[in-house]
This record gives sequence, structure tokens and C-alpha cells, in this order.
Amino acid sequence: MIGHHDALFRLRHSEELDEFLSGSESGHVDLVRTQENSIFASFFACWVENPDDEEETHPEPIDPDDAVAATGEMVGLLKELEEQSEGELLIAREFNDLLDCEEDDTHAAILHFEGAEALGEDLEHLDAFYESGLRSLGLVWSRANAFGHGVPFLFPSSPDTGPGLTARGRDLVKVCNGLGIMLDLSHLNEAGFWDVARLSSAPLVATHSNAHALCPSARNLTDEQLRAVADSGGLVGINFCCSDLRDDGEDDPDTDSDLILEHLEYVAELIGIDHVALGTDFDGSVVPSSVEGVESIPGFLLQLQERGWSDEELVKLCSGNWLRVLKETWLN
Ligand code: ZN
Repeated sequence: MIGHHDALFRLRHSEELDEFLSGSESGHVDLVRTQENSIFASFFACWVENPDDEEETHPEPIDPDDAVAATGEMVGLLKELEEQSEGELLIAREFNDLLDCEEDDTHAAILHFEGAEALGEDLEHLDAFYESGLRSLGLVWSRANAFGHGVPFLFPSSPDTGPGLTARGRDLVKVCNGLGIMLDLSHLNEAGFWDVARLSSAPLVATHSNAHALCPSARNLTDEQLRAVADSGGLVGINFCCSDLRDDGEDDPDTDSDLILEHLEYVAELIGIDHVALGTDFDGSVVPSSVEGVESIPGFLLQLQERGWSDEELVKLCSGNWLRVLKETWLN
């Protein structure tokens, strides 16, 4: 399983649905390559870009109506993929869907929103999106909204960049717990992280974040945050994004992919193998140039094996930890 990719964002702008289903050279993720490489599930993020991206470090809040429209388009694309896949891709709505997909070599698509703007400030769109399959939610992307404050793209920087969740955000944590929607802490600032840690009854999850000790980006998690994730029974999905891997924070594809393994092993050593997984941020970030896409995952697993990881540990990394967390988080 991989914890975060932006294939829907890519498809919204490229309209390469057929290529996604039949396999293509473009992008990091498609159905054929995930199946060929035994990746039976992934989180499909709906991310809405800022209308102008001139301000790269501190994205401004966006108009919630724009978020509803763009997110609706991406959810529509995922439904189209499901329909056109003839049973090869399924929008996962309950835990058993994941097990069935693993068994049948079907790809389980977990619908994720990267920022809660599209739900509406009064959550007026939540029920409809839940019906469409929404099962994972980041309260914020790296900007403020009605629910909280995202971390800006600062380096070097502590993730402690602003206030915690708003009253609406605190309520939304409880609502998500009640519906069994997983909450994603990647992109949330530190005060918001601790608010969720205090309020949520579910394991804490960061779908695509790395170790702040190795790369002091505001997007990464401090040792104290990592320990809190483990204490809750949660996990961290390691991010392949160069600027969140490197100790100089450069967003440069000329980056040694071994850094991915180093973050992975750092987190595993600090908080245990049960709390680390693959995040990737495929199709959403600059990754080391030697990483082609999902087809590069088996190579990483071989390298980990050479570094002493057992088969059992690799299964936890690839799927066991995600399955444990989702079983505990989703209601059915
Ligand atoms: Zn992200």
C-alpha cells in the first residue's frame, strides 16, 4: 500500500484516464504498474492548488467554492476510473474491501482529501463526499482554512508555525472519529498536531512526512511527534519528496534515493517497525531521479532486505501497518 499520491490531480490536468488504466510512461502511478508491483491499495488524494502559485512558501487560503468544484471533479474522475476498470479498481469503503482487493489483485483506491475546504465550513458537503467514498482527510494542506493552519514550506523550520485547530477543526476531529474517517496529520502545524493527538480517539497518522531530525523542514515530524504517533498505535508514511528528505532542504531531483531508506530506518528505530509505512507523494512532488514510480518500490524492499529487514518486517511496512490502523479507524 502507499499512503499518498496525487494521480487524480495529474489526471485532472492531463485527462489521461485511459493511459492510467492501460499503463503509461507518464507519471509515477498507474493501475497496471501498481498491479505488476503488488501494490494492492493506495490513497488517492484530492488536492486543490492555489489559483496562482507565486507565493511558494506561504500558500494563501482558497475559496471553499473553488475547492468544492475541483474536488468534485477529482472524485468524479475516480468514479470514472472505477467504472472503466471493469473490476480492476475499487473505491474502498470498508475494511474488508482492502482484504478482498489484496486477495483478488484488484486495486483498492482510498479516497483522501488533502485539506478540508471542500467539505464546506459547516460541513454541508461532508455526507455527500462520504457517500462517494471519502475515508481519509487532512484537515489542512499547507495553508489556513476554517479548520486549522497548515505548515508553510519553510526550511529550516520547526513545525511549530502558528495556532492550533479552530473550534470548527476541533469539532471536525470528533465528526471524523464518529464516521470512521482517517485523519492525516501531514501538512498540519505542530499546535494542530497536538490538538488532534489530544482529541482524536483514532491512531495518529501522517501519510507523507519524514523525520525532522534528518531534514529540518517544517513539513517533517519531530522526535516528540513521532513518539506520539507510536503511542497512539498510528504510523508515518515516508515521503519521497526531495525537499523533505535532504538535510539542506533543496527540492533537487539529483538526490540520493538512499535518503528514503535512511528516514525509514530512523523512524523504525525511534518508534518501532509497527509505526512506519510507505507514503511516497508520487505524482505530487519532486522525487530522487533514480525513482521512476511505483515500479521502484520492489527495489527498495530488496535494499531493506540487504540491510537486515526480515520478510515479516517488510510485510508490516508495505501493508500490515496500514491494515492495522485502518481496521482500528474505519467503523466497518
Ligand atoms: Zn502533500
